[in-house]
Amino acid sequence: MTRRGNLFIVSAPSGAGKSSLINALLQDQPADMQVSVSHTTRAPRPGEENGVHYHFVSKDEFKTLIDQNAFFEWAEVFDNFYGTSRLTIEQTLDRGIDVFLDIDWQGARQVKAVMPESIGIFILPPSRKELERRLNSRGQDSETIIARRMADAVDEMSHYDEYDYLIVNNDFDTALNEFSTIVKANRLHLAGQRITHNDMLDDLLAD
Ligand code: GDP
Ligand code: ADP
Ligand code: 5GP
Repeated sequence: MTRRGNLFIVSAPSGAGKSSLINALLQDQPADMQVSVSHTTRAPRPGEENGVHYHFVSKDEFKTLIDQNAFFEWAEVFDNFYGTSRLTIEQTLDRGIDVFLDIDWQGARQVKAVMPESIGIFILPPSRKELERRLNSRGQDSETIIARRMADAVDEMSHYDEYDYLIVNNDFDTALNEFSTIVKANRLHLAGQRITHNDMLDDLLAD
């Protein structure tokens, strides 16, 4: 029996640093962790590549995928549609690989409902002022888009208590360390360890 991967749901208001934290955790491309590449109808930012950061699709293509039941979850965020592919998630978890979803609170709720064993992590910025500074410093969105994201930030943050873990991303290295600790601790959970060490446990406990 192969151990299934853990499903980590990571949410935060836009600009809090979730992409930076996930990228830093996965930067050495560990074989046992993958970030899920969502579908979105928003336009690519400068430097974003189709199939790497997102699968960029039209609204019509997105609607066809909804009709085909291709999404594990989907939601409308900032006037665009975002969704997670069902097949990719299932296949990756079945191979024993941990999957990270960078999704909003509406998507997180849907995932928790169908997979209660998934692990929710919420990331907060240290203050509203710092959140705005980060959105501006990222330098990839227009003033109108930044204003929209700031306006929606409080609504997203108000859902922090629907998650299992809370990280305040003030000092980046501290936050990264906390994130990594959560991932490691969940790997040591009894249910998974029992499967990984099945033979050893049999030997240790043999009469
Ligand atoms: P960023 O997180 O500020 O870099 O902005 P993005 O444009 O990458 O993401 C916009 C919003 O959509 C965020 O709230 C994400 O968490 C959310 N999001 C991204 N991918 C998904 C997804 O597959 N499903 C859901 N439900 N939300 C997603
Ligand atoms: P999100 O994916 O949540 O929208 P990003 O990871 O794109 O956020 O981060 C937004 C901006 O803030 C980026 O320019 C990033 O480099 C910066 N950033 C992230 N974490 C920190 C931190 N702890 N201190 C200072 N700047 C940060
Ligand atoms: P951005 O447009 O900055 O890439 O993403 C904006 C927000 O959309 C982020 O908060 C991100 O987590 C969320 N998001 C990205 N992909 C998905 C997705 O597939 N599903 C859901 N529900 N939200 C997503």
